[in-house]
Amino acid sequence: MNTIDWVKRAAGCRHEIKDFIAGKYVSCNQTNHLVSKYSPRDGGLLYQFTSGNDTTLDAAIESAKRAFNEGCWRDMAVQNRASVLNRLADLVEIHKEEFALNEALDVGKPIAKALSEDIGHTIYCLRNNAEMAVGLVAPSATIAGCHSYQLRKPIGVVGAIVGWNYPLALAASKVGPALAMGNSIVLKPSEFTSLSAARLAELAVEAGVPSGVFNVVHGTGTELGSAMAHSPDIDLVSFTGSSATGKQIMAASAKSNMKRLLLECGGKSPFIVFNDCPADLQAVAANVVGTAFANQGALCVSGTRLLVQKSIKEKFLDYIKEHVALIKPQDPLKFGTQMGAILNEAHMEKVLTYIRSGIEEGADLLCGGARLRLPTDSPCKNGFYLEPTVFDNVAENQLIAKEEIFGPVLSVFSFDTEEEAIALANNTPYGLAAYVATTDLGRSQRLAQALHAGSIKIFGTSSPGPKAADLGLDPHKQSGFGWEGGVGGLLSYTANSMIHQFS
Ligand code: NAD
Repeated sequence: MNTIDWVKRAAGCRHEIKDFIAGKYVSCNQTNHLVSKYSPRDGGLLYQFTSGNDTTLDAAIESAKRAFNEGCWRDMAVQNRASVLNRLADLVEIHKEEFALNEALDVGKPIAKALSEDIGHTIYCLRNNAEMAVGLVAPSATIAGCHSYQLRKPIGVVGAIVGWNYPLALAASKVGPALAMGNSIVLKPSEFTSLSAARLAELAVEAGVPSGVFNVVHGTGTELGSAMAHSPDIDLVSFTGSSATGKQIMAASAKSNMKRLLLECGGKSPFIVFNDCPADLQAVAANVVGTAFANQGALCVSGTRLLVQKSIKEKFLDYIKEHVALIKPQDPLKFGTQMGAILNEAHMEKVLTYIRSGIEEGADLLCGGARLRLPTDSPCKNGFYLEPTVFDNVAENQLIAKEEIFGPVLSVFSFDTEEEAIALANNTPYGLAAYVATTDLGRSQRLAQALHAGSIKIFGTSSPGPKAADLGLDPHKQSGFGWEGGVGGLLSYTANSMIHQFS
């Protein structure tokens, strides 16, 4: 049960954005340009800071390198590193309300979701990577006097650059595996969501991560992010963000030290609904709507293209409309809110431009399509809210069919045969996720093979439950590359040497 007055608590907060370098808070450089952050929920100024420059970055990298070379973390027994990461997870749990409020204020996401999903995922990333790292036993064999074994070493300094939609959870998905495998890290959060990162680094020191191992710098992508991608002293850039930025980071790596890259980029994922699950169509519709509009539509794996078999389309779209009508965007700090605010005015305008293009290019607007103004007596009357929007009869060449919108917009297509569905689903430069609703097991297996996606969820009946295993994914096509999650994800933060030791 929620007993907290989140609006009052938010009103009492004073936000100061500081870098975290060598185990200490450092004021952001005073001479660079000023970044102003406006609140998604009410449009007011939330905080300001000056974007970091080369001096800041050099200090953070120097700190990470020194810590790595001294070996205080790198050479710690993996079991001890795991204990420290588990302690950090405990501290995040203790401070979960502070972090959840940061995430709700920064992104505009509902506070209840921030508490359950964002904090839950962060704690999971820290604990799970700690546990897997301990279990990652190097294969070894001795034949005729030659002992051969695989040596898995940390890579060095990891530069983590992350996007704005899940600031803390995305940071944790880099910090967990990077630290578990013994690397040092310089983390740059999005300049649009700067509240949580340095606090996580501060708690990491409290948990026992040696000072200097985990550093945070704040600044814009074009200045600080680009400098990280070009730095000769960063050994791996682990990036989560758009495909366009991912390509720039690839070029920067090629121009500098050929640093390793992990790129988790954008998506335009299909949700394919076949006519063989009629008994569960209501549950499937709820699932489609949940997937498309979660986090105000700002979710890389959103199923933003609904592909529905023609024979059930009319009935299914009625269900979709019913479920969309239940979504009421509201103040993210109200505990019952399901959909909150859009990141900022510029992003809201970008989403509205896509919506206008859908109308101009001839798609049928089924519902939504406009900015939502909260009542004039609401403290959030100047916030950035959008109606959840659904377009039917979208053509494959329209902008809303091709480009990632990263807002609450669902595009509907239809098909007759399985082959048509696969062709439609794969007609995208992206390959991040796909969703399939079918009760036909043979079809499930064919689609798992045929769909271009790193994450494929197949729903036989009703709604999704807990997942059975911790797995990783490798984004396909222009959604990026490199394993994230699971044991494969840990190996991404590891340099492997093969050792043949002859007696
Ligand atoms: P973005 O690419 O604009 O920014 C991401 C990060 O990169 C930010 O920290 C930004 O400051 C930095 N950056 C920007 N330009 C840079 C440059 N030239 N060099 C180095 N760094 C630079 O993305 P965004 O708008 O923050 O996030 C939304 C995107 O992230 C969407 O495309 C979404 O699909 C994707 N995303 C992907 C995943 C995934 O797991 N695949 C998860 C979340 C978000």
